Amino acid sequence: MNFDILSLFPGMFSGPFDESIIKRAKDKQLIDISLHNIRDWATDKHQTADDAPYGGGAGMVLKAGPLASCIESVKRRHPASTVVFTSPQGRRLTHNIAVELSKSSGLIIVCGRYEGIDERIRSLYAEDDISLGDFVLSGGEIAAMAIVDSVTRLIPGALGSNESAETDSFGDGLLEYPHYTRPPEFKGLSVPEALLSGNHELIRKWRRKESLRKTRSLRPDMLSTVILTREDRKMLTEIEQEDDCVM
Ligand code: SAH
Repeated sequence: MNFDILSLFPGMFSGPFDESIIKRAKDKQLIDISLHNIRDWATDKHQTADDAPYGGGAGMVLKAGPLASCIESVKRRHPASTVVFTSPQGRRLTHNIAVELSKSSGLIIVCGRYEGIDERIRSLYAEDDISLGDFVLSGGEIAAMAIVDSVTRLIPGALGSNESAETDSFGDGLLEYPHYTRPPEFKGLSVPEALLSGNHELIRKWRRKESLRKTRSLRPDMLSTVILTREDRKMLTEIEQEDDCVM
């Protein structure tokens, strides 16, 4: 999958894209990331990529010309890629949106800065607008990193055999169960017995039940959309009795 990232600060990506899962996915040629400096497409001698907003007011706006040239050049190279704008006004990034984006042959991710981007560029080129949440970042770079990371994890082969996107939170519509590693006791807290039992069925059941318990406790809204099995419903009844007793 090709990721093209258009930014005024491409240097921000060294580090996050040079470690761990993203690095491995690049090395395995599952993904290819190209960084494009929007400023390189400015034509004046000062390489101006931003300008004051019409109507006055604070801040600067990314100019239409350099960004349009940059998008068009990248799109010529990867015509099947989807042009995604990062914006606090976009669709909030979720697991389902990451799955949707992972089906595209490539993403051209546009990172805004300052007050944002000349609206005409959005109208002309944006195929999707993605937000990280209801807050304002200083630029789209961190959002682009989140998009690349969450999408890459879903590409078959990107995660090692010990890692799985399916059991991760949201992969099956629930939050994931809690994890423990050695030692078996830490500051008076023990690892749940089922996990030490070596009994795979017992472990599966424990994990499913704890996954349901966490979801019920932290994200009850998710339970209304997930398809529950009979076993899930029985576990939820037990959880209700156990947890409501404690409270
Ligand atoms: N003035 C704009 C915010 C601009 S912030 C407004 O009020 O809507 C500058 C850039 O940061 C944006 O163009 C976008 O690329 C990025 N950005 C800011 N917040 C974001 C968020 N929550 N999700 C994704 N990108 C964001």
